[in-house]
Amino acid sequence: MLSYFAKLYSKTKEEFYQDVAKNLKEEKRMFIVTANPETFNHGIEDSDFNDLLLNENTTLIPDGIGIVKSAQMLKYPVKERITGVDLASKLLELGSSHHLKIALLGAQEEVLNSLIKVINNNYPNLKIIKYENGYTKDKDKFFTALKSLEPDICLVALGIPAQEKLIYKHLNKFKKGIFVGVGGSFDVLSGTKKRAPKLFQKLNIEWLYRLIKEPKRIKRFYQNNIKFIFKVRKLKKERKAHENSSK
Ligand code: UDP
Repeated sequence: MLSYFAKLYSKTKEEFYQDVAKNLKEEKRMFIVTANPETFNHGIEDSDFNDLLLNENTTLIPDGIGIVKSAQMLKYPVKERITGVDLASKLLELGSSHHLKIALLGAQEEVLNSLIKVINNNYPNLKIIKYENGYTKDKDKFFTALKSLEPDICLVALGIPAQEKLIYKHLNKFKKGIFVGVGGSFDVLSGTKKRAPKLFQKLNIEWLYRLIKEPKRIKRFYQNNIKFIFKVRKLKKERKAHENSSK
């Protein structure tokens, strides 16, 4: 797991947005994975997902507060949260101000239609070149057809690990484009689900708001976070023992 921490983006959110804007301008390709404890657990349990996380083409950003705090505890220079939903929103803004092309895959049909309306109203210069809800069987087709359309931005909202695996599988078809797995962001950006109030965001307890609103998440949250906390504590102990032995 330490290799995931070491790979985390360590500058500020603003600096990250500048890097993304630069890559968009220079037509570079980028694959961004937004990391939560669940992301790291998947990496440990699934060797394909591990390869995806550690691949040189993957940029890993600290989405969850659990990742930020644990990284800091283990003395990795991670600054702050950079969330998937903020990133998705920033990409819509950048895409519109630079008249770029976007592709959207994922979420329920109604959610996606609402998101398209939001984009057309609020980001009028962003061109939606392809879209599809996340419940069709053959999602590879989406990417095969997308290749010749050369998107500048591609947001995939299928949940982890499906969204990352799908992007990773097709990434080499594209020379340029910012590809991100954005989880439940379409639900929020479309206005279908409310994001946690600002106070929750500020206090870094956005996760608590999601659990209150969607109690069915509790089991998933508990399993992932407990596993993660135990691993981090073990790593911390090992590190301390190593430091003491080399004194
Ligand atoms: N989703 C989808 N197809 C599926 C399963 C999920 O399009 O087969 C969508 C779902 O509608 C939701 C998103 O993927 O919009 C996952 O959201 P979730 O809140 O679980 O992701 P998180 O933000 O927790 O990673």
